[in-house]
Amino acid sequence: MVAELRRHGLLAAAAPAADGGLGLAHEPEDPLRLVRMLTLIGRANLSAGRLLEGHVNALKLVAIHAEGEARSRLLGVARSGGLFGVWGAEGPHPVRLAPTGDGRLELTGEKLFASGADTVDVAVVTAKSTDGTTLLVALPTATLAGRLFPGEWSVSGMKATASGRCNLDGVCIDPNDLLGGPDAYFREPWFEGGVWRYAAVQLGGMYAIAGHAADQLRARRQATAPLQAARLRRMVTACETARLWVASAALATEAPAAQPATARVAVLARLEVAEAAVRLLQLADEAMGAASFALAHPAERVRRDLQLYLRQADPDGMGQRAMERILDDDEERRRWGIG
Ligand SMILES: Cc1cc2nc3c(=O)[nH]c(=O)nc-3n(C[C@H](O)[C@H](O)[C@H](O)COP(=O)(O)OP(=O)(O)OC[C@H]3O[C@@H](n4cnc5c(N)ncnc54)[C@H](O)[C@@H]3O)c2cc1C
Repeated sequence: MVAELRRHGLLAAAAPAADGGLGLAHEPEDPLRLVRMLTLIGRANLSAGRLLEGHVNALKLVAIHAEGEARSRLLGVARSGGLFGVWGAEGPHPVRLAPTGDGRLELTGEKLFASGADTVDVAVVTAKSTDGTTLLVALPTATLAGRLFPGEWSVSGMKATASGRCNLDGVCIDPNDLLGGPDAYFREPWFEGGVWRYAAVQLGGMYAIAGHAADQLRARRQATAPLQAARLRRMVTACETARLWVASAALATEAPAAQPATARVAVLARLEVAEAAVRLLQLADEAMGAASFALAHPAERVRRDLQLYLRQADPDGMGQRAMERILDDDEERRRWGIG
C-alpha cells in the first residue's frame, strides 16, 4: 500500500517545491489538487488515505517549523519517498520531555493511535515540556526498534493503518530535533484548520460506498425503482455537500494569507462531512440490504473503515470549541450569518 504511494511519487510530492517536491503539503498553488489526491486515495483505500493524510500533515509541520540541518535531513527523507506521520494522541502515560543535564532531552511516556507504526520512517511526536508547553520532536523510527507495537491495533476497521502504541521511555534527543518553538503545533489555521484533510479522505470513502450501492442497484435492475432512486439521489447529494465543504475549507485554510479564524471553516467542514457520511452509510445499508454485510461484498470493509475513521478525532470537543469561538467574535458571528 505505502509502496504504491511511494512508487507514484505521492509521498515525495508533499515536500516543498523548492526542496524537490510539488509543495502539496503547505499552501499549495492549487489546494483543490491536494483535495482530489486525498479523496482519490481514500476512495481506493481509506487506510492508505489515512497514512497519506498523516504524511501530508507531518510535512506541513516540517515545511513550516524545521530549520537548518534538521530541515535538510528531513526533506531529504521526504524527497526519497520516506513516509512521515504525526503521533499526538496520548494514553494513560502521556509523553513528556525533560533536560538530561548534558544538553540533551529525554522523553518518557507512550503514544497511542500511532498510525503507520509498522511503516512510518519519521514520526513527528508531540511532547509536554517541563514548563507545560507542547513541543514537536521529529523521530526516525529506525531509532525506535522494540518500542513500536503495531500488532496491538486490534480493531474492526482501518486495520491496515496499524495504529498501535509507541513507547518512548528513555529516548534521548538533541534539541536540534525539535520542530518550532513552544506550542508551535497548535498554531492556527494549521492545527484544527488541517482537519479538512482527513475529511477529504473520508469523502473518498463516501464515494466508494455510493459507487458500490449504485453498482448493486444497477446489477439488480433496481436503480430506477422510486425508493431506491431517492436513496441514490440522497447519497449523491451527501457526497456533493461534503465535497463543497471540503473544497471551501481547503481554499480558505491553505491561502497564504489565511487568518487563524479560517480554522473554523475546516472544523465545520469536518463535522458536516461526518454527518453526511453517517446519512450516506444509513442510505447505503437500506439500498443494498443484507447482501452488503457479506464479508466478500466490496462495500463491507469500506463501511467498517469509514465508521471508525469518522471517530478521528474528538468531534464533540472540536464542534464545541468552534461554536464558542464563533459566538465570542463579532466578525465570526457575521461570517456565519448569526451576527
Ligand atoms: C484510524 C485512526 C487513526 C488514527 N491515527 C492517529 C495518528 O496517527 N496520530 C494521532 O495522534 N491520533 C490518531 N488517531 C487518534 C485520534 O486522534 C483520537 O485520539 C482517537 O480517535 C480517539 O478519539 P475519540 O474522540 O473516539 O476518543 P474519546 O476521547 O474516548 O471519546 C469518546 C466519546 O467520549 C466523549 N468524551 C470524551 N471525554 C469526555 C468527557 N470528559 N466528558 C464527557 N464526554 C467525553 C467524546 O466526545 C466522544 O463522544 C487515530 C484514530 C483513528 C480512528
